[in-house]
Amino acid sequence: MPPANPFDFAYLNGSGGPDDDKLKEECGVFGVVGVPEAANFVALGLHALQHRGQEAGGIVSYDPDAGFSQARRFGYVRDNFTSHKLMETLPGQTAIGHVRYSTAGSKGPTAIRDVQPFFGEFSMGGAAIAHNGNITNAIALRRELIERGSIFQSSSDSECIVHLMARSMGKHIPDRMEEALRKVEGAFSVVAMTRTKIIGVRDPLGVRPLVLGKIGDGWALSSETCALDIIGAEFIPEIAPGEMVVITAKGVESHYPFRPQKPRFCIFEHVYFSRPDSILGGRSVYETRENIGRELAKEAPVDADLVCPVPDGGTPAAIGYSLQSGIPYAMGIIRNQYMGRTFIEPTEQIRNMGVRLKLNVNRALIKGKRVILVDDSVVRGTTSRKIKDMILDAGAAEVHFRIASPPTTWPCFYGVDTPQREKLLAATMTEDEMCAHLGVTSLRFISIDGLYRAVGEANGRNPDQPQYCDACFSGDYPIMPSDKLAEGFEMKTAAE
Ligand code: SF4
Repeated sequence: MPPANPFDFAYLNGSGGPDDDKLKEECGVFGVVGVPEAANFVALGLHALQHRGQEAGGIVSYDPDAGFSQARRFGYVRDNFTSHKLMETLPGQTAIGHVRYSTAGSKGPTAIRDVQPFFGEFSMGGAAIAHNGNITNAIALRRELIERGSIFQSSSDSECIVHLMARSMGKHIPDRMEEALRKVEGAFSVVAMTRTKIIGVRDPLGVRPLVLGKIGDGWALSSETCALDIIGAEFIPEIAPGEMVVITAKGVESHYPFRPQKPRFCIFEHVYFSRPDSILGGRSVYETRENIGRELAKEAPVDADLVCPVPDGGTPAAIGYSLQSGIPYAMGIIRNQYMGRTFIEPTEQIRNMGVRLKLNVNRALIKGKRVILVDDSVVRGTTSRKIKDMILDAGAAEVHFRIASPPTTWPCFYGVDTPQREKLLAATMTEDEMCAHLGVTSLRFISIDGLYRAVGEANGRNPDQPQYCDACFSGDYPIMPSDKLAEGFEMKTAAE
């Protein structure tokens, strides 16, 4: 199939662009209550969460005169939810929204019916929900619900929550949500709304983030604090793992509807997914990433002339590596921030540019230098190879790759798009083999204990009771991926 445009990375050179070789967060959620023109605030919040999903977005609002209003669109928030014409159709003081990158649900071109928030009309009134995470027993639940008469509108795992709510006998929407979510396994941070309230819930392990903010007389719920900043909301606390908050304009009620468990927050949020200006678990994401770079410099030192990040993900860790090692930091690779749509007809020459469309080497700086290149992760390794080629083409004497996460050896089933295990470079090769395959002078990953130290666990990972979810590095899945097991997925054996 020909490319949609010359910047269609999936097509270029038969491979992805620099961001195609990354794990991708599935979604971001945002909601406000008690705020005039709530949908505008939600649009701003979703814009700040765009890094969590670029494929599509949706907003549902409620106004006493207009009732519930909804809009779902493909593409960026800024390209859709900035139009006066559209925003006027979303009146009211309560609204929630969602940005999406599809993992569960339809693959390939998304159907608009898969774009959240999902809306349901219940006997006590309407409710909309937006979900970040992944339901690991969604196939089994869906089968059971369909057998019992539910009619699904989408292929999304999240729709199960609406149908489970519909089957509940609970008197109020929050009661129905509680009952529904007790049947759900997996990772979920949910933001929901009714006519009078917004509701935020995190799964018992708190795998995905969710925070609460105060704005004027109203309240906001968000996947990350960076989206509270954009609307001028004050960050109050994180919603705790297993907590449900029910928020009206008058205030916040907190419940703990699930059996308490030891939290296992996604450690990769610290490494890559969350924005560096967000606060996670009371820690600045930027500082954590800088710490990762410092740990990496201690664990994997090397004589070199420059430390350069692979932008943007590797930047804070490269700064940390430079500070720790005393080797100068430099912008050896420049990222073009303005990659956008174009109407230029693709030519063979443009297609062959691949990664170079987004990243360019600062030749004057690199020539003749021994370069330490810091990146956040290696997934398939396709982009790492191309970047190494660009650096060597620019005349670098040596290229030492330092990776700010441990080798990614297992897929994620909790809301992050990961290739199948056999496509993960580190699942099929040793570190030495990867070094040879990538063609770099040396290659080192941060150890899992080094990563834990960087997130504030001075003694590293507790193997008996890990403090975080780190399944994509360890194969230690804190929630059984039941649907995947039924499909034949093989968990780590005792010998591995
Ligand atoms: S498997 Fe990896 S990416 Fe997925 S939730 Fe766990 S740590 Fe995060």
